[in-house]
Amino acid sequence: MNKALDISSYRHAGMSKKRALALLLDPEKADLSRLPLSAECLPDYIFVGGSTGGDPTAFIRSLRCQLSTLNIQLPVILFPGNASQFTPEADAVLYLSLLSGDNPEYLIGQHIKSARPIHDSSVEVIPTAYILIDGGVVTSTMRVTGTKPLNPSSDEGIQTIIDTCIAAELMGKKAVYLEAGSGAVNPVSPDIIRAVRAQIALPLIVGGGIRTPEAMQAAYDAGADIVVIGNHFESHPEALKDFCRHNVVTSCRHDESVSSASSSDIRFMRLALAEAGKALAADEVPVGCVIVSQGQVIGRGHNLTETLADVTAHAEIQAITAAAQTLGGKYLQDATLYVTVEPCVMCAGAVGWAQISRIVYGAPDPKRGYAAYAPRAFHPKAQVTAGVLADECKALMQRFFAQKR
Ligand SMILES: [Zn+2]
Repeated sequence: MNKALDISSYRHAGMSKKRALALLLDPEKADLSRLPLSAECLPDYIFVGGSTGGDPTAFIRSLRCQLSTLNIQLPVILFPGNASQFTPEADAVLYLSLLSGDNPEYLIGQHIKSARPIHDSSVEVIPTAYILIDGGVVTSTMRVTGTKPLNPSSDEGIQTIIDTCIAAELMGKKAVYLEAGSGAVNPVSPDIIRAVRAQIALPLIVGGGIRTPEAMQAAYDAGADIVVIGNHFESHPEALKDFCRHNVVTSCRHDESVSSASSSDIRFMRLALAEAGKALAADEVPVGCVIVSQGQVIGRGHNLTETLADVTAHAEIQAITAAAQTLGGKYLQDATLYVTVEPCVMCAGAVGWAQISRIVYGAPDPKRGYAAYAPRAFHPKAQVTAGVLADECKALMQRFFAQKR
């Protein structure tokens, strides 16, 4: 499976510029009613997992329920402690291999146990090297897996950390997760992050012991793509606001192309990218689409031309049909359509017929895009925003066509 919620295309897609914040919630411990999530206080991802207990299925359902009452859509990514924590409710799963340890159960054993349900689901799989680094405390992961973390306090230890990350890349992992552990006294140091960053191109996820926005910024500056916070909020839920505020400010500063798009455009384009990932997993040209009205997704779709043997089964067509069904009417005047690639002439026509008032697309398509052939296909008053997360949308297409060669 080679799908791509944007985590897996971060690096090549220039996502090193857009830093992302992930909030890790433990289904056994997290109190959803205390989370101060709002449109102004949002991480980029929610990771669910971390312990061996709790019911992730029920947890994700109530989390989504809570988010939907706030009109918020966030990718929910599993961070499973073992095979039993997999649930098809999630958008994606970090398929973690504990490469810092030598316990076969966590290198391959749990993967075999979870292979069938994951394979049979539509959850995006992100093969991830999980690397424990000594953060100054004995963590439950160490106890459960019976493995020791890598020691960053000597030159030799640092070299082992770097070499493990290089091995992960050579093995074809799609992300590296440097983990100091829940409740770590010392987070993974910026020096380590920098040293790893210099050697590998994979997206770098860093977590454990990050308690202040300054520590988060130091990790970003050293080369982390995603910073994971979690444990800290179980005791200080209000502190999340500081992180999210800081995250938005620094994201914009790092990437001018992103700052011109609104955070909700980026959020919905990520959902369109998740749809494109489903197409990629089905060996379809990876184009995804969501249609949004009043902050709610009312239709989604991905390219299904091969699956349905139907040249008209483009992502936009699927999403328009779904949205019309949701609303119970064929016109979508108040809706915004997000699609990962510039619509073709056919889809632009359908968007025009549906009277969609705003179109946001990611990557341009100079060969097949509507603009070259039918620039007036949309409704005359429709607004068009191009280039939102364009690099990621394009990278997904390039990946697909590279595989085909
Ligand atoms: Zn089309």
